[in-house]
Amino acid sequence: MNIPLCKAHIPSQAFENIYKVLSSGKLSGDGSFCHIAEEKLKKIFNIKNALLTSSCTHALETAMLLLEADYQDEVILPSYTFASTANSVIVAGLKPVFCDINPTTMNMDPSDVVKKITPRTKAIIPVHYAGVACDMESLLKIGNTYKLKIVEDAAHSIGATWQNVSLGTIGDMGTLSFHDTKNIVCGEGGALLTNNEELAEKALIIREKGTNRTQFLRGQIDKYTWVLRGSSYVLAEPLAAILAAELDLLEELNFKRQHIYNYYISNLNTLEKQEKFTLPHIPKNCTSNYHLFHIILNNEQNRNALMEHLRSKGIGATFHYIPLHTAPLGQTFGYKVGDLPITEDFSKRLLRLPLYPDLDEQSLQYIVEEIHNWCDKNL
Ligand SMILES: *Cc1c(COP(=O)(O)O)cnc(C)c1O
Repeated sequence: MNIPLCKAHIPSQAFENIYKVLSSGKLSGDGSFCHIAEEKLKKIFNIKNALLTSSCTHALETAMLLLEADYQDEVILPSYTFASTANSVIVAGLKPVFCDINPTTMNMDPSDVVKKITPRTKAIIPVHYAGVACDMESLLKIGNTYKLKIVEDAAHSIGATWQNVSLGTIGDMGTLSFHDTKNIVCGEGGALLTNNEELAEKALIIREKGTNRTQFLRGQIDKYTWVLRGSSYVLAEPLAAILAAELDLLEELNFKRQHIYNYYISNLNTLEKQEKFTLPHIPKNCTSNYHLFHIILNNEQNRNALMEHLRSKGIGATFHYIPLHTAPLGQTFGYKVGDLPITEDFSKRLLRLPLYPDLDEQSLQYIVEEIHNWCDKNL
């Protein structure tokens, strides 16, 4: 058996689209497939502006530049996230301030966010872990009270909702990822979502190396020039062509993921009842896109032992994230082990199981059996 943690599903339409792009000879970005994919995103998300970028990291960097904050102004984000969330803050010359999480969802804890606010705080970045919404009601209130921008890192959560609103469209800006490991893929890619026209206009400039080239191409001005601090964040056309095909499968692929998620839940819940580990929980006002499946063991030793057992059986079980505040770069910001106890505790006990649309029933059965075998023997 060799069951990976995740595996992209590439539709045949993607091959046709790629052929079209290569035949056209126009490979740079902001071309016709880019526009098709952006229109699809606007429809799916019911949002006024969707800008494709070369990655979610770059969409986050754009969002941080759009804050127009002063050097070393602060942005609050969870420590329990991928390095990109924090990098975007640093690259824009701002200071990352890490907060703790709510262990039920692994999402940022609003009560800890409030504790971390200072006169220099400019924004909050909620990361919707595994495709399940952060406590947006509390975070929106905090944003309003303290006049902070909300930038949702929705890299995990395309197609998921909170109170029937798509994640990534609740705050001032939202970012998506189309990296191979996410629900919708194009290799490397991302998007910035916003209903704010002024931010969208500026984002177009930031994405085009700080020039107003996009307005020029659209005939809005007669020559283009350098106007803002920016970078090169346009998604190349061959990748947009894959994305345009892939986006049509959003519901179908998320539905397949749901089936796998439910299989795990119904076949592992006896072990949860015996308190061998806990299963994930989706709050009432949320729908998930089933981005990933995780269980929480009682301690690190058991987590590592079960992970090793599954790996020895060819099952790509893994853990993440090493909390950013205890990582080498995080510590240079003055953080140390012990600062965010819930994040540190749960990151040591969390185990991810394989989840991807084409994971078949036979493999699922095998994974579940191996978990039962190991728990019966060891816990
Ligand atoms: C994957 C991921 C990113 C980065 O996405 P890229 O498209 O690879 O830049 C950012 N944040 C989170 C939470 C992610 O999981």
